[in-house]
Amino acid sequence: MLFGKDSGSKSSLSTKIIIMVEIILLITSVMFCSVSVYMARVGIRKAIQQRMLDIANCASGSVNGDELASLKETDIGGDIYSDLYKTLAVFRDNVELEYVYSIKEEQDGQFIFTIDTDPVNPGGYGDAVKYTDALAKAASGQASVDEVPYSDAWGEFYSAYSPVFDSKGNVAGIIAVDFSADWFDSQLTSQMRSTVLSYAVILLLSLLVAALLSISTVRPFVKMQGQLLEEKVRAESANMAKSDFLANMSHEIRTPINAMLGMNEMILREGRKTQDSLGCDTDSMRKSLKDIISYSVDVDNAGHSLLSLVNDILDFSKIESGRMELVEAPYRLSSMLNEVFNMIMFRARDKGLEFIIDADRTLPDGLCGDEIRIRQILTNILSNAVKYTEQGFVRMTLRGERHDDGSILLTARVEDSGIGIKDEDIEKLFTRFGRLELEKNSTVEGTGLGLVITKRLLSDMGGGISVDSEYGKGSVFTVTIPQKIVNDAPMGDYSSGTDKEAEQSTGSRESFRAPSARILAVDDTKVNLTVVVSLLKNTLMQIDTAMSGAEAVAMAKETEYDVILMDQRMPEMDGTEALDRIRSTPDGKSRKSPVICLTADAVAGARERYISEGFSEYLTKPVNSYGLEKMIIRFLPEEKTERTASKEGGPVSEWEGFDALSDAGIEPRTGMRYSENDEELYRSVLVDYARAFAEKSECLKRSLADSNWNDYMIHAHSVKSTSKLIGAMTLSLQAAELEAAAKAGDKDKIAREHDPMMKMYEKVCRAIRLVLPECEMEEDDSEILEFIPKEGGT
Ligand code: ADP
Repeated sequence: MLFGKDSGSKSSLSTKIIIMVEIILLITSVMFCSVSVYMARVGIRKAIQQRMLDIANCASGSVNGDELASLKETDIGGDIYSDLYKTLAVFRDNVELEYVYSIKEEQDGQFIFTIDTDPVNPGGYGDAVKYTDALAKAASGQASVDEVPYSDAWGEFYSAYSPVFDSKGNVAGIIAVDFSADWFDSQLTSQMRSTVLSYAVILLLSLLVAALLSISTVRPFVKMQGQLLEEKVRAESANMAKSDFLANMSHEIRTPINAMLGMNEMILREGRKTQDSLGCDTDSMRKSLKDIISYSVDVDNAGHSLLSLVNDILDFSKIESGRMELVEAPYRLSSMLNEVFNMIMFRARDKGLEFIIDADRTLPDGLCGDEIRIRQILTNILSNAVKYTEQGFVRMTLRGERHDDGSILLTARVEDSGIGIKDEDIEKLFTRFGRLELEKNSTVEGTGLGLVITKRLLSDMGGGISVDSEYGKGSVFTVTIPQKIVNDAPMGDYSSGTDKEAEQSTGSRESFRAPSARILAVDDTKVNLTVVVSLLKNTLMQIDTAMSGAEAVAMAKETEYDVILMDQRMPEMDGTEALDRIRSTPDGKSRKSPVICLTADAVAGARERYISEGFSEYLTKPVNSYGLEKMIIRFLPEEKTERTASKEGGPVSEWEGFDALSDAGIEPRTGMRYSENDEELYRSVLVDYARAFAEKSECLKRSLADSNWNDYMIHAHSVKSTSKLIGAMTLSLQAAELEAAAKAGDKDKIAREHDPMMKMYEKVCRAIRLVLPECEMEEDDSEILEFIPKEGGT
């Protein structure tokens, strides 16, 4: 149908073009012919007048000037008169003129007949001749023709006048020849008719040729255009379909990944718990559990890389369909950088790379921009640097250039000591699916979309990206991002940014119990419900589940829930509709309950959209227990929640222990983050850290005593990185200062700051020993040690 209609419009289009060409040609030809006909008329008129003059001149040339000068009225009938008369009569009889006669100008300027050859009704000698301008001109000695006709007793005429000169050269008289106005007009008309006729023929012929030419050229052209148009429409709709498909598929794929990751988190957690609770005699069980955990870690890694792949495809499809939007909001630069650091640190550490983010401490902390996308840009470039570097370092320096208009141009320079990029490959970096040296990088995961997305995001933000690389040595990616400043206070050490947030947050994993609280989880996929229920199992909340919007509405009517977790995308009734119905059920018991939207829709701006739709909050899938609990506890009534520690009492609880650590300058939340929020793992890291104290402090003291600055630098570096890992940020900074001083050979500074650092080191380790007495025990902790990062890894 579509194309049938199109072919109809195509033929009417070609007809229209041909008619247009014809009209334009007609107008121009008519204008051209009109001008030409006018010019031809002027020319024909001049030719007729010339012919009249020639006759007059011929007649006047035949007359004897002296005889004419001497002619008087009394000479009529005499020889001179007859002689002159006969001469003029020759012309009267032989040519197409009407009358020929001679004229004389009197003393008073009057013109009179002297000889008139008209045989019927001649003018008499002395009779007045009709005055015309041409006659006056002839009297002055210049032959002339009337431009307009005049009338006298004989009719209407155009006359030609030619002067006759005597032997002295004076005007002896004038010979006039009259042509009737009818003759003149008929001459003009007959010649004009043939001229107009020939122009009309030319006009018709050219229109005909133009029409034929248009038909032979426009038709195929329009046909071709039509085909191109059809192809374009087809390609565009295919592209739209592809983008929609990608967007949809990405969304669909996220849901099972979510379930997979959620279930896997449960396996990991349960596995570790069981492993720890088993006695030493059950070695084989411990081993198999260890295996399960290691498989599960693999599933976790695979799930996360699959998720990031899907996210890339989703972003790319948005770029393709022009639906990529930036959402600007105020954010803290320090916490954004901290998150970036945390995301990359583990990958770099696993590869044994040194990873540093050197951010100018004076940069303003309060900025406004699309934080999610900026984080995406930085992590993409940093994870590429880690991916394509086998040994050495990955370093990011962040600087800013303030502008008068209250904005700042951030410049992030990411340098690596990796494989580098050949000069000729640099431009391929930013082409879709452009991956370099596939053979060499066959084991490295990637889609070749990351940099395309990064470049597009940067250009949408008004920033840019450039690459400088030496093949085999390493690369430098430099990005510039303009941002608005909302708070000029310097950010300081970015790594303490999220610590404050963590401190303010309500708690960590399973940080509360609320047995009297009742919540409803809604999702059309059973496994998602299982994940949510499992993740929240330890909170002891009563969790009801509903597998459709309608079921949720019905349950919410009957029961007053403290919180409702609502999946957004469900068949028949989506989350938003279910929410509206819950809110508008007049006697619904959960009419006013907080409803948290749970969705795989992780696009920037989604939160604002869901909140504007009436949801109380928004949480993206895959959910983790930390995020879930942190969110739910915000909405639970205070009286229903119980802190785990206050309920259990008895031996020193983990949270009380963390309080003790805080007093010694350790930020447990930061340490927990580095341990992937796994409390068991964090405790193991602390144990190992404290156990290493004796040896490490000994090494530091020895290298100081020997003035061996290189060794000192290595040990200070180790204290710096391990302290950071457990969240002892102040100590980490002190060690960093000493490391830098050792590098620069600044003995004075080392002498000044060594003791305060050592005191802090001791204080931290003592606090750990107090909280975790097992630090003193000499037991085989091989499993635990597996999770502890290698020293100096960061
Ligand atoms: P991918 O998902 O394949 O990493 P990107 O678009 O992020 O896709 O990068 C495109 C290609 O650019 C990579 O496949 C790799 O060949 C090259 N590349 C990117 N960053 C680096 C780097 N730091 N060092 C060497 N090559 C790099």
